[in-house]
Amino acid sequence: MITPSKPVIGVLALQGDFEAHQKMLSEKLGVSAPEVRTSADLQYVDALILPGGESTTIAKLLERSGLDESIRMRAQEGMPIYGTCAGMILLAKNIDGRPDQPTLGLMDITVARNAFGRQIDSFESDIPLQWGCNEQDQTVRGVFIRAPYVVSVSTEVKILGRYQDKIVAVKQGALLATAFHPELTDDTRIHRLFLSTVIVKNLQI
Ligand code: GLN
Repeated sequence: MITPSKPVIGVLALQGDFEAHQKMLSEKLGVSAPEVRTSADLQYVDALILPGGESTTIAKLLERSGLDESIRMRAQEGMPIYGTCAGMILLAKNIDGRPDQPTLGLMDITVARNAFGRQIDSFESDIPLQWGCNEQDQTVRGVFIRAPYVVSVSTEVKILGRYQDKIVAVKQGALLATAFHPELTDDTRIHRLFLSTVIVKNLQI
């Protein structure tokens, strides 16, 4: 029997709530979760998490460091990436109403920023998620902070969850994105879902 070795999950640490992801991965899941700030850091990771934060700031820092190109190259080679909130915005090919905003442009989704409006800047809600093949629908607690949502997807994209009628969780191949922040809860299931993608990919090599 093959025992998969534990993957290394890098966390983009240019700005935002990267420490919460690192804590969840290292303390709750026992997985190595180094900070990624440069293209050199990226070489040592099997997968990458793009945290919440300020997407325009993170995008500028990515461009300045050249890390954007390195991430795009690794994504083309199949590196799994999970983006939360601002991370979802960075993964999107299109930003609604802001065609000039730079992103990594990896997922066939159009995302609206700060889309829930001022009154509900931050809120929590139970989100029913469809996890795919052998898992039943499960509900997770969604923490939304000035969150985006997905306004449209291509047929390549699987919709995993909605808040009311808004798409807030999507998957496309090895790319996963949620508008909410599971790293700010005690629930490790979405991170484990992401980890399972990484382990399956490593077994295929
Ligand atoms: N509103 C932020 C943005 O557009 C995202 C907020 C978050 O990541 N919590 O970049």
